[in-house]
Amino acid sequence: MIPYGRQDISEEDRAAVDAVLRSDFLTQGPAVPRFEEALAARVGASHAVAVNSATSALHMAVAALGLGQGDLLWTTPITFVASANCGRYCGADVDFVDIDPETFNMCADALEAKLAIAEAAGRLPKVIVPVHMCGQSPDMIRIGALARRYGVRVVEDASHAIGADYDGKPVGDCAHSDVTVFSFHPVKIITTAEGGLATTNDPALAERMALLRSHGITRDDALMTEPSHGPWYYQQIDLGWNYRMTEMQAALGLSQLSRLDPFVARRRALADRYDNALQEMPLSIPGRDPKADSAWHLYVIRLHDKTRHRAVFERLRDAGIGVNLHYIPVHLQPYYKAFGFAEGDFPQSEDYYARAISIPLYAGLSDAMQDEVIAALTEALS
Ligand SMILES: *Cc1c(COP(=O)(O)O)cnc(C)c1O
Repeated sequence: MIPYGRQDISEEDRAAVDAVLRSDFLTQGPAVPRFEEALAARVGASHAVAVNSATSALHMAVAALGLGQGDLLWTTPITFVASANCGRYCGADVDFVDIDPETFNMCADALEAKLAIAEAAGRLPKVIVPVHMCGQSPDMIRIGALARRYGVRVVEDASHAIGADYDGKPVGDCAHSDVTVFSFHPVKIITTAEGGLATTNDPALAERMALLRSHGITRDDALMTEPSHGPWYYQQIDLGWNYRMTEMQAALGLSQLSRLDPFVARRRALADRYDNALQEMPLSIPGRDPKADSAWHLYVIRLHDKTRHRAVFERLRDAGIGVNLHYIPVHLQPYYKAFGFAEGDFPQSEDYYARAISIPLYAGLSDAMQDEVIAALTEALS
């Protein structure tokens, strides 16, 4: 089976993890801050806070922005459930903005219309979470401008998009948002096994996220409510969690980060090859926003004939091609349906779901393996 995604672990990666295992610190040592500094520098952000998953990073970020009971968070239906769940962890209500059918990202027109209605109803969201679907940035210039106009905070879910560019600058620089979140799950562009990270340019927000990552505990005298009792002293000044990244994960991440550029270059070359090979088939290739240069986490085709969706998917699996479907619209998950969402609420997302198939794309995919995928696809569509 050719999988839809796969990690690439080198001898250097293994040596980096082994060196940590031989050192004094398995957690709360020097590797995490080193990884944070390197990643912040790579994406052009002032601060980075590493955690044990992107799910944790999303929760930490929206909590640090003050999202709470009775507030509202908006994301898009075509994403992993974590983009929505972070709102629910804080007791906020979740709603969705439909996608642009070509880029699969939050549609800026739909967002603009929904914000106007929400303002009139006195029920604006506190936070919106646009997703960099497949590794391509949403229209962050317009989304950021709308957010500023309505006083809404923005957390970019860039779980797919480390190494991507937007408007000529790296994704993660937070030029149009408060926070950007990355995931280092093994199927993503670089991996720490499990892991995530949030970038921001706001020092107060970075400090607050770092506090929440580790139980709400501080050893910083300036943050304490009374003078220190002695060298052992710490204070819990808020309610946080243990979302810390381990030293092994950070060392792996640092080693992987050194290969981010070749990983993304290979993914871009493979995406271009798919674009060329698939042009004449009865399917749509992914739409490209000229302002965005995707990191190509996923390559998603959409079948012209949605009545053949399941059959084509099954024929590909039977042929040893590890296709997948990203994603089942989140508003149609039973957990969210229980809040009143129903089929027909977000037609573009639902039409996408009826046609989409993710085909294999990862740095280690050879041209020959990709040709196998293309041949199997030709066969499955015949
Ligand atoms: C993978 C992913 C997440 C969650 O990442 P974890 O690191 O597995 O918690 C969140 N959002 C999107 C869009 C993802 O693809």
